[in-house]
Amino acid sequence: MRILIMIIGFLLALIPTASAAVYQQGVVYVIYDEEGKAAVADKTDINSNGVPDVIEDVATQVNAARELFKDVFKYPDPLESERFKNVKSIEVDIAPKANMKSYGNAYSGVRKSKHDPNERAIHIRVANTIEPHKHFTPEHEYFHLIQYGATYFRNGWFLEGMARWSQDAISKTEKYPDGKDIPFKLKNESAAKKIFKIKYSAAENLWYPLAVNMKDKAKIPDSLMNKYKYVDGTPVFKDNIFYGANVMRNVILVMKSKEGSAAEEFGGMQKWRKEGQRDDQNSKYIFDSVKEVYNSKK
Ligand SMILES: [Zn+2]
Repeated sequence: MRILIMIIGFLLALIPTASAAVYQQGVVYVIYDEEGKAAVADKTDINSNGVPDVIEDVATQVNAARELFKDVFKYPDPLESERFKNVKSIEVDIAPKANMKSYGNAYSGVRKSKHDPNERAIHIRVANTIEPHKHFTPEHEYFHLIQYGATYFRNGWFLEGMARWSQDAISKTEKYPDGKDIPFKLKNESAAKKIFKIKYSAAENLWYPLAVNMKDKAKIPDSLMNKYKYVDGTPVFKDNIFYGANVMRNVILVMKSKEGSAAEEFGGMQKWRKEGQRDDQNSKYIFDSVKEVYNSKK
């Protein structure tokens, strides 16, 4: 009897646990559990297609951001980058919020795809309590993939500050800063040093004011405004005003050209890419990139 129980136990262990469901929308694949603690909290399915609307809305938000940055504003496409070679898709894991410190993460590594083991994918992770109508996490994390694909620089005031700025693509900002303090901040060493120490708040301290000061008021085309809607019909883009899309792209491109200098100072490209992506010494190269873009408009 005891042996029989052991054998049954052994056989049960061999049965694979239910595999996660996959929802595909273009190159975006959302990987999610339909039941259990990792399943989405809100299972509303108003279009009755068997996929929770939240899952579809996460994919829609990522695709909206992807088309806006890649096709309208010509940001480097992470799927075409030298860093992420032979990658065909963007996977979004839905994970239990209880296991996460924030609502999302973006990963700079390539993994074996979860929807097709013969492929490789880049990926982000989003909490199962996400409400895409209110939370811009999928967009924010996708912007990190753009940053990772475009440059190895990873200092927080660039990485998190600019990703928070990017949320304005789909959110509605009521009051933009006037940007009058930008010339002072770009010249004053102690002001710059303060920026190097902050992360998310660099959006309000530097990136938004820079965009407004440089009068980079971009419009999101009507075609995109009309194309991207959540399942319930709510538009993804809350308004068509987006400050800074051209300035930020140019900063990122200039940053890429300064990687060699930053790496040299750190002891070589291989070492820098491995250990130096967040080094404090990087800040002056990123800041020089900001100044270069700023001065190019004068
Ligand atoms: Zn972030």
